[in-house]
Amino acid sequence: MPLLLSEFDLRKSIVRACRALHARGLVAAFDGNVSGRLPSGNLIVTPAGASKGDVTEDRLLLCSAEGKRIRGEGQVSTEVGLHLAAYAARKETRAVVHAHPPLACAFTFAGAEKVFLEPILPEVVARLGGIPSIPYATPGSADVGRLAAPLLAKHDAVLLAQHGAVTAGPDPWTAFLYMEKLEHAAAILKAASELAGSLEGLKRLTPAQVADLMNTYGRKKS
Ligand SMILES: [Zn+2]
Repeated sequence: MPLLLSEFDLRKSIVRACRALHARGLVAAFDGNVSGRLPSGNLIVTPAGASKGDVTEDRLLLCSAEGKRIRGEGQVSTEVGLHLAAYAARKETRAVVHAHPPLACAFTFAGAEKVFLEPILPEVVARLGGIPSIPYATPGSADVGRLAAPLLAKHDAVLLAQHGAVTAGPDPWTAFLYMEKLEHAAAILKAASELAGSLEGLKRLTPAQVADLMNTYGRKKS
């Protein structure tokens, strides 16, 4: 069972994740949003239109489980629907990060996002169980959450084609680490495909190698 953070600690963890997202270049300007779920079911979410680089604990909004603002100044992001879908998809999820990681996004603009499901990077195979993607949907629309929910039921990281990515975890910092891992995987795949001349030229793990990997490090399927 994940440790349930108090509102004070949840706000601190969200701000830490926001600062790291900005520092690592996984969001720019007003991109992205981070939320965490309280034991009561209410949510703490970043306000719309705030840079993740300078957001502070007292600027975060307290929202109902339905995403309606209860306390705090500013508007709830239109992308909160994606967060609600992630929480509804898996009861263990206590935090959601949505960002626009540039290299991972670039694969979706190139139509190459399926490579994240292939058995190439051992840690992605074992830790994330592959990274699936949803087709393009208007950012902030209900379609984004509707399409992502079935994938978020089983995966910690999902790509949103021609838009960004969403990660879900037991706390905001862990959800941030999944986003960092996704972008790091994209950087390796980009560099390797440039050296190999194409994505098709990359080495794949054999079925036996995948089986051994999963026996040793495989994530538990929920
Ligand atoms: Zn977005």
